[in-house]
Amino acid sequence: MKIIAATKNKNKIREIHKIFSPLGFDVITQSEAGIDIDVEETGNTFEKNALIKARAVAMLCDDYVLSDDSGLCIDALGGKPGVYSARYAGDGASDSDKINKVLSELDGEQNRRARFVSSMAFIFPDGTEITARGEVIGRILSEPRGENGFGYDPIFFSDELGKTFAEATMEEKNSVSHRSRALLALYNKLENSI
Ligand code: IMP
Repeated sequence: MKIIAATKNKNKIREIHKIFSPLGFDVITQSEAGIDIDVEETGNTFEKNALIKARAVAMLCDDYVLSDDSGLCIDALGGKPGVYSARYAGDGASDSDKINKVLSELDGEQNRRARFVSSMAFIFPDGTEITARGEVIGRILSEPRGENGFGYDPIFFSDELGKTFAEATMEEKNSVSHRSRALLALYNKLENSI
């Protein structure tokens, strides 16, 4: 079964591939499907944004469409950066700019509790929509550690792995990540409907 992943983020596509391919799904990217659109994420929840992106691609094809929206939610910042994770330090800011902004906002803060959240939206060719959510809990370190991954990975210390996501291999990260948990939750829902 062919699924179009409604994202241009290469890291996410790699993770989605790794998880969905062994389950028998043929995952292709929206650009491989010839769909070249940029969708504005105007929702105030991860689920709404995932649906906005998936619906925009679903309107342009007859295939199954999968989209995710994700981000980092920090307790001491009232859940920020949340849905603004990608553009937290402004449009075009680098990952280190975003990391530095978070670290300065948490300067002197004792409560470092945080979670990565991912919401998945899946749309059938007949328009049926299914959503699923996953999260992973950890804490924000006072300085970056590790070279792997992307985004906020170097400052996110996973309690389950005992290291930052940027110190983890992709296999290790996938074994606990918000995205793989959301994908698995989605897969469990799909098993009953396909
Ligand atoms: P999205 O493309 O709108 O889902 O943006 C999500 C943003 O949240 C990314 O640009 C990253 O900054 C951050 N993010 C989401 N998932 C991860 C992750 O697994 N590791 C590090 N940062 C992440």
